[in-house]
Amino acid sequence: MTDSSTRGKLFLVGIGPGGEAHMTARAREAIATADTLIGHATYLRLVADLVTDQEVVRSSMTEELDRAVMAVELAQAGRTVALISSGDSGVYGMAGLTYEVLFQSGWTPETGFPVEMVPGVTALASCAALVGAPLSHDFCAISLSDLLTPWPVIARRLNAAAAADFVVALYNPKSGRRARQIVEAQRLFLCHRHPETPVALVQSAYRPRQRLELTTLAELDRREVSMLTTVLIGNSQTRIEHGLLITPRGYTNKYDLRGRTTVDGERGGHSLSSGLDGWLATIRAGGESAAELAQRYGLPEDYIAAVLACADAAIED
Ligand code: SAH
Repeated sequence: MTDSSTRGKLFLVGIGPGGEAHMTARAREAIATADTLIGHATYLRLVADLVTDQEVVRSSMTEELDRAVMAVELAQAGRTVALISSGDSGVYGMAGLTYEVLFQSGWTPETGFPVEMVPGVTALASCAALVGAPLSHDFCAISLSDLLTPWPVIARRLNAAAAADFVVALYNPKSGRRARQIVEAQRLFLCHRHPETPVALVQSAYRPRQRLELTTLAELDRREVSMLTTVLIGNSQTRIEHGLLITPRGYTNKYDLRGRTTVDGERGGHSLSSGLDGWLATIRAGGESAAELAQRYGLPEDYIAAVLACADAAIED
């Protein structure tokens, strides 16, 4: 039987990019409450000021599995453990692996000790903040680490994101032993994007060795990138203005920003004329086949056919 007074607890703590100012209050509380802190030495150094009498277990990056197992075992034995990740623990961090270890040990949320996930500011948000507003339109994150993911999977995702015009944050772009991945990523992006596409390299955001560089897709392979860098690649609309990377939200599709008036054919607070309803009306009226429309809009023919069939049914109703 587990006595609640001796019951352990596991905090999965994301400490944000580095400095204490960008750590949440709950992360600080979790660290203060814990009797054992487990993490990579770099992250433990970042929270050193918060350590009082907690036991501190340092480990190196390659010992992630050991760290997760140790955290689970100690919590099972009644300790209050804070497992520290940089950024957010759920974003290429320790959380996923730890849940796998937990479930394998027979732990369930109903019967096991409490596990609390403490969200943190992930690198793409902190790095973006330092260079302007590059993520103001659809974006995605891709890790270039092939330690656990086959390269064709990574390459397909890079290709899809590049083709779909996402702003992309590349995590784990390079390490001592992995230098080519970033070059291949650049090559794939150049198949879809202009060589002058703005790119930001943000290294050690909010840490003492912070380094920012704005460059272009064409130049990416000639710039310094390390395992402490997040690479932000703009979409086709992203531009650099006065040293800031800005991705437009799309306001100019609808508004004249100076006069704050709407452009012809658009209404404030309503979907664009090319939004879903407007687009449906256009393709219905145009009389093109599903195959032609699929080609024109880069969408699956099955989808177009289904949309047209629905529209026909609605008209008949
Ligand atoms: N859990 C972390 C990500 C861990 S993966 C998070 O949510 O941010 C490690 C990668 O994260 C690094 O290779 C780098 O690409 C990125 N990263 C983490 N902290 C960073 C920081 N302070 N500055 C720049 N990049 C960072």
